[in-house]
Amino acid sequence: MRTVIEGAAVFAVDRGSTEHDTGYVIINHGVIEAVGAGSAPDKGPVDRRIDGRGCLVTPGLVNTHHHLYQWATRGLAQQSDLFNWLTTLYPVWAGLDEEVTEAAATAGLVRLAETGATTVADHHYVFPQGAGDPFTAVVSAAHRVGVRLHAVRGSMDRGRSHGGLPPDSIVEDTDDALHGTEVAIERYHDPAPEAMVRVAVGPCSPFSVSPELMKGAAELARRKGVRLHTHLAETLDEERQCQAEYGCTPAEYADRTGWLGDDVWLAHGIHLSDDAVSRLGRTGTGVAHCPTSNARLGAGIARVRDLIEAGAPVGLGVDGAASNEDGGLGVELRAATYLARLRGGPDALTARAALWLGTMGGARCLGRQDEIGSLEPGKQADLALWRLDGIEHAGIADPVAALVFGALPPVRLLLVGGKTVVEDGTIRTVSDVDTATALRRASFRLARRAEANR
Ligand code: ZN
Repeated sequence: MRTVIEGAAVFAVDRGSTEHDTGYVIINHGVIEAVGAGSAPDKGPVDRRIDGRGCLVTPGLVNTHHHLYQWATRGLAQQSDLFNWLTTLYPVWAGLDEEVTEAAATAGLVRLAETGATTVADHHYVFPQGAGDPFTAVVSAAHRVGVRLHAVRGSMDRGRSHGGLPPDSIVEDTDDALHGTEVAIERYHDPAPEAMVRVAVGPCSPFSVSPELMKGAAELARRKGVRLHTHLAETLDEERQCQAEYGCTPAEYADRTGWLGDDVWLAHGIHLSDDAVSRLGRTGTGVAHCPTSNARLGAGIARVRDLIEAGAPVGLGVDGAASNEDGGLGVELRAATYLARLRGGPDALTARAALWLGTMGGARCLGRQDEIGSLEPGKQADLALWRLDGIEHAGIADPVAALVFGALPPVRLLLVGGKTVVEDGTIRTVSDVDTATALRRASFRLARRAEANR
């Protein structure tokens, strides 16, 4: 059960930022056994030996924020800001069911794996009445594709009749939302270090959820020992609404309702004051930075460097594919670097810091820094072997710059827990042709339902 990768450049993203121009990784029973420079030492029988010359090996990327179901609703509301985008899309999402969700989630996970992601947090918060069990559909898609899933059981209890944006048909009663979340934890959460599925508690956002649900969700998560996730401080509209309704900023509201702490990670965190940034840093509250989605919706540029300096864990997220049609994680390394530089100048974020955000930063947001996120003995063998010998990268001075600044390299090999998920740029666990066909049908079915209900 031993795999050896040799001859590749290595960027370990460990505490010492270890790099080797030529090195090896040895994997034994799904766990990293050794990492080093030069040729691999003899540790015993080898089942698979991979010639990594011309490649860079890094930890697998960690996606800290997504809505996989949105793969079935891409290309809509192209010029909208967040609130208008939501009010356009909610009625379409009202037609979601288990089958559409599974087709969309499978496609989204394949795209993520083919762009270097080994762990994915998915935030599913749309539960239309009579739609079956979309949460289980996402778990089943991740099982088939073979990536680690942090399944965030989302919820909304503020429909239009209670001053919220979503139609009443897709929100739940507060008690039902809490009960559904508890059932999801009991059914799927696995605390083991090698866990392929963990569950987190995730009311959608302060503007679509009552204060009772925010507080109840925080209490539930802490009683069950699972993590908490929600959207926060994404737009100025949200800030204005929060001030009007609760007389405070979104960050102060999060504090009041029990939503700051080292077991919480927040999506976006764009519009934060100096006080809010230091509050997040002090409490160890994480931020899932989603640069492409933020740009697509014109939401703003997150204060990534300030958050890192304040001590807050920051990871990268794709966000739902309805606000990021690419849906790949590798390109977010570059997007994060460039947005940070537009805000803070050319040294605001280095290529290496971006790769740290995409790996260890994400692992910290998900509370898995001791299990994944770096290439170190004892950690899960989640890694990406990137091919740098093609015309896009051959001869480039620095392999990490090739990955972050250059075209996204093909993934020669993606291992999750030592198992092959992607090889030679293509998914190996499911059929890419069947996945695309199912996605096309699901998107068509959903569009037809939206048309009929208009
Ligand atoms: Zn989101």
